[in-house]
Amino acid sequence: MLSRLSAEELASVYDKSKEKMPPKDRERRLNERLSEQVQFAYNNAPAVKEKLDKAGVSPSDIRTVKDLEKLPVTTKDELVKLQQSNPPFGGFLAAPLNSLNRIYASPGPIYDAFGLERIRSRVRGFLRSGWPKPGDVVLVSTAYHMVPAGLFLTDVLDAMGCTVVPAGIGQTELQLKLLHDLQATAILGYPSFVMTVLKKAEEMGYDVRRDFNIRYAMGAGERHIQMLRKTFEEDYGLMVSGGYGTSDLGEVAYECELGQGYHYEDEDCVVEIVDPSTGKQVGPHEVGEVVGTLFSKVYPLVRFGTGDLASYTDEPCPCGRTAPRITRILGMLGEHIRVKAMFVHQRELDEAMSQFPEVPKYQMVLRLEEHRDRITLNIEVEPGIDRQALSDAINKRCQDVFKLRMDKIEFLAKGILPEDCQKFVDTRWS
Ligand SMILES: [Zn+2]
Repeated sequence: MLSRLSAEELASVYDKSKEKMPPKDRERRLNERLSEQVQFAYNNAPAVKEKLDKAGVSPSDIRTVKDLEKLPVTTKDELVKLQQSNPPFGGFLAAPLNSLNRIYASPGPIYDAFGLERIRSRVRGFLRSGWPKPGDVVLVSTAYHMVPAGLFLTDVLDAMGCTVVPAGIGQTELQLKLLHDLQATAILGYPSFVMTVLKKAEEMGYDVRRDFNIRYAMGAGERHIQMLRKTFEEDYGLMVSGGYGTSDLGEVAYECELGQGYHYEDEDCVVEIVDPSTGKQVGPHEVGEVVGTLFSKVYPLVRFGTGDLASYTDEPCPCGRTAPRITRILGMLGEHIRVKAMFVHQRELDEAMSQFPEVPKYQMVLRLEEHRDRITLNIEVEPGIDRQALSDAINKRCQDVFKLRMDKIEFLAKGILPEDCQKFVDTRWS
């Protein structure tokens, strides 16, 4: 267990006044911190040095956020390749490996370097949203295995002085019992799972408001939170805080109490929205890729492309915060998808399916069903194949390679899927 932060330390993590800095001051401060950060990254992370040297850019050339355009965007694919050719961190680690408190392995496959700064950053997010508070009993219902979900949240809650119930994923009825018996005040889980738990409670005859003590739910990890948010708030009286982040960058943007987009978390990260083909920053309300440069002394990614498409606005928010806002996340770029809070690359699907020569063509279709992500795998097979055995084998293999099972495997006759069929069809955005 990590040591709990004192009240003083907690206060130092979150300085509310910075959120409403006059825009000019905010810009100046951001630019100053950015130029220092780029110099630090250049001196301490060999991959950043190489990136700048290759582009013929000196760290002193980066004085403003606009100057970042001089550097190419490093895509997630490139990061995976850099890590594979130079494991574990591809030259981006700027601190001794054994100074990290956690190393996670996310689908990609990709290693994530987590130090105390990431914990402090998340603590700030919780303090900003006002929950959970020290003394809360929190059920953590995200995966504890390898990926930075359950264990990371546990670290953060430990630091804050909460009591954690490490429940992990699945076993809805047992989790419900824990929530009830322990009178937990919060559940941190993917929104669709939280909804499943709440529905289960009703099915079992409970009145969630009367029989439980739960007041907060996390709204991160899935993109359709907005659809669920109203239900959480209105039907169950839960407070929900949402945000946008990735496991590589951490929290990139957070929702204020007005729910009108996500304010850039510029204490931790310089956010740009860029044209994926040119790397140039786009204007307000134009669509581009979310690109982040971390203020990190541990893993200082510079111009890292998330693969997520979004638009932003710099119009003042009625809440008074002056950081620009991501207005909408609009989908994903390239050959990967995010589903059930996991990240799957087409290469991983190909790798999983390469073990099944009897399946020459396949296609993963993503849908929203009520509030949940649903994955259907369409496969073409010869007639007479043992469908159950093949389904089991495919699911086992997919779980091994990218940690997800299919909700449904649809058997198609040969020739139904086009020759160059898209491997991912995502209907959740339409
Ligand atoms: Zn706001």
